Amino acid sequence: MKLNIVVPCYNEEAVLLETTKQLSMLMDLLIEKGKIKACDIVYVDDGSQDSTWTLIEQLKAENKYVHGLKLAHNVGHQHALWAGLEWSADRCDAIVSIDADLQDDISVIEQMVDEYKNGCDVVFGVRKERKTDTAFKRWTALGFYSLMQKMGVDIVYNHADFRLTSQRATKELMLYPERNMFVRGMVKLLGYKTSEVYYDRKERFAGESKYPLKKMINFALDGITSFSVQPLRLITSFGFIVMVLSIVAAIYALVSYICGNVVAGWTSMLISLWFIGGVILLSLGVIGEYIGKIYTEVKRRPRYIIEEAI
Ligand code: UDP
Ligand code: MG
Repeated sequence: MKLNIVVPCYNEEAVLLETTKQLSMLMDLLIEKGKIKACDIVYVDDGSQDSTWTLIEQLKAENKYVHGLKLAHNVGHQHALWAGLEWSADRCDAIVSIDADLQDDISVIEQMVDEYKNGCDVVFGVRKERKTDTAFKRWTALGFYSLMQKMGVDIVYNHADFRLTSQRATKELMLYPERNMFVRGMVKLLGYKTSEVYYDRKERFAGESKYPLKKMINFALDGITSFSVQPLRLITSFGFIVMVLSIVAAIYALVSYICGNVVAGWTSMLISLWFIGGVILLSLGVIGEYIGKIYTEVKRRPRYIIEEAI
């Protein structure tokens, strides 16, 4: 079988040399063991501003495994990943996607290949624990996964984008037309036989995270709103509760009126006015989020543009 490794890279000049070294060593080993026949490492340069692309070109010249796709501009991790998957879909039997910083343990790729040979179309790499992440990242990630589950989104706990997909699974995935992509959730929708391999996540060995807090929050919001209409329902329930409360308030106001205590009211008026205003704005915001999604979907813009392929 032929294996492709898809690696999205955004400003990763600090790690690419080491990554290539480690990946090629692993590929040599797998070929030697007869687990795979051939392999390509596909670096997708996601519009980096540093020398990532020149580095990929150099690596391409000296390493038989390396291939490169240069995207014309920065489209984000998920889209860059998609570019690599789409490019590889016709060129190999299975694809492993992994981050450029090798925080995920590449030695389990062998297990992934074994699982593939056992008939699994999707093999998820799952982190055992998050010792190396900061407490903050651990907490937010945990909160995110449980929130997703509460919202009824089926995702694999502690699985990032380190996974193997077979050729047919990848081709099926490519048929999903949406532009708001949360790839790890979409893979689960395919319904093929899946399995999981476990590993410890390491520290990024060079360079810094390309996922600052703002991007993380956006990513989480995208994940939820691309996969769940639960927030819209919540608004309805919330609206209902507020309505019931307002009936209570109305009764209270009437009783006060009958009893003759009508002087006060300024404070309560002001509070309720602001409160209702807040609820309305919040609800509009949530609805707006979904309308925004519809907006990007109907435009049907290309997910990425390849400037150069080597
Ligand atoms: N990445 C990308 N485009 C972006 C941001 C990130 O292709 O706009 C890539 C990045 O090069 C890396 C992967 O996505 O290979 C994950 O990023 P990172 O390791 O910085 O995230 P973290 O592990 O901190 O969550
Ligand atoms: Mg990382």
